[in-house]
Amino acid sequence: PEVSAPHGPGVAGLLDLDRRHVWHPYGPMPGRQEPLVVESASGVRLRLADGSGELVDGMSSWWAAIHGYNHPVLNEAVRAQLERMSHVMFGGLTHEPAVRLAKLLVDMSPDGLEHVFLADSGSVSVEVAVKMCLQYWRSLGRPAKRRLLTWRGGYHGDTWQPMSVCDPEGGMHELWSGALPRQVFADAPPAGYEEAYAAHLRDLVERHADELAAVIVEPVVQGAGGMRFHSPAYLRVLREVCDAHDVLLVFDEIATGFGRTGALFAAEHAAVTPDVMCVGKALTGGYLTMAATLCTARVADGISRGEVPVLAHGPTFMGNPLAAAVACASIELLLGQDWRAEVKRIEAGLREGLAPAAELAGVADVRVFGAIGVVQLDHPVDMAAATRAAVREGVWLRPFRDLVYTMPPYVTGDVDVARIARAVCAAAREG
Ligand code: PLP
Repeated sequence: PEVSAPHGPGVAGLLDLDRRHVWHPYGPMPGRQEPLVVESASGVRLRLADGSGELVDGMSSWWAAIHGYNHPVLNEAVRAQLERMSHVMFGGLTHEPAVRLAKLLVDMSPDGLEHVFLADSGSVSVEVAVKMCLQYWRSLGRPAKRRLLTWRGGYHGDTWQPMSVCDPEGGMHELWSGALPRQVFADAPPAGYEEAYAAHLRDLVERHADELAAVIVEPVVQGAGGMRFHSPAYLRVLREVCDAHDVLLVFDEIATGFGRTGALFAAEHAAVTPDVMCVGKALTGGYLTMAATLCTARVADGISRGEVPVLAHGPTFMGNPLAAAVACASIELLLGQDWRAEVKRIEAGLREGLAPAAELAGVADVRVFGAIGVVQLDHPVDMAAATRAAVREGVWLRPFRDLVYTMPPYVTGDVDVARIARAVCAAAREG
């Protein structure tokens, strides 16, 4: 049947069906807000189905679309792979796109990460990271080491185990706090280096070392939990104390990976190699859902010495060839250009364009790091009003909590970066 037939024509019909049947992220059912219907996307622009025009994307579809939309190279990678094989099971079979992707990831990631598990979303890659760590200690005869230490203000995904290491207070998963595995929480890291905070981290890891499997953190940028930036020196502190006390170190680079902070991976700012690293989002340039969990030989060897010497995880769509092919193309596209210069250019544009926000009433902080710009309010943002203000400026933003923020595609030109910055200021003023 025609999708819109029983509920009226075109956009109104779609919205009616959407409201009745479709869950959106963190949404009620039936839906209360009217989402914008996107008809197509190209470059950095989203074309709206209601005929009202285009919006410049200030979100990269949540950190993912680093090369923008409808990119000819990425389109061709999917098309060519589609002609060969869209999917095949990964148990007992392998294929060139997955193998090539694993090799690319190993070559580009911090030295020492050698093995790659191809997961199907960021949350699953965190699940796999946690399983790797717990299984490592179990294999070594230390099953009591099964808790995780993380810092407040973090966000690692929406499935069960990742939820347990998200910010437990006022965070997105507060509803579940009593039911989730009990983890160890350090205070959120301050922006600059403070010896007292480093001591706090050392102390917590030392005290809980017997029960800790791993420390898991978002390096340098805490994303959805608060869009906070902190000194890379804390990563070195964690590396030292984890090594000293037999605790594994996991970096969740799902948001920060692939250049967003001005380094390929945020770990590079500290010259630290974690034992396990999660990537996702921009891995496929935002084209298809895929993530990956990388680990060192130490972790893999430990697991293979156990009573159950395999990593017991294997999703149906593991290593999907279409996603792997476009991930390879996206990485090659990134590495084949001066991406550092593009990120620096966007950083400079955001710094200049967001500076006026610091003068606005109700603004608590303005910060920019790499191709990420944040205006923090001193009150919860009125999401609907702030979004409307950005849309009026011709820009797509998704403000939340007390934050109006942007992480544009790296291909965003200077004029559009300035426009995004104006929209962030307008959203901060009206939200
Ligand atoms: N970890 C971090 C740092 C993230 O920012 C996110 C998503 O926002 C996730 C994990 C979860 O990834 P996904 O939404 O693909 O499951």
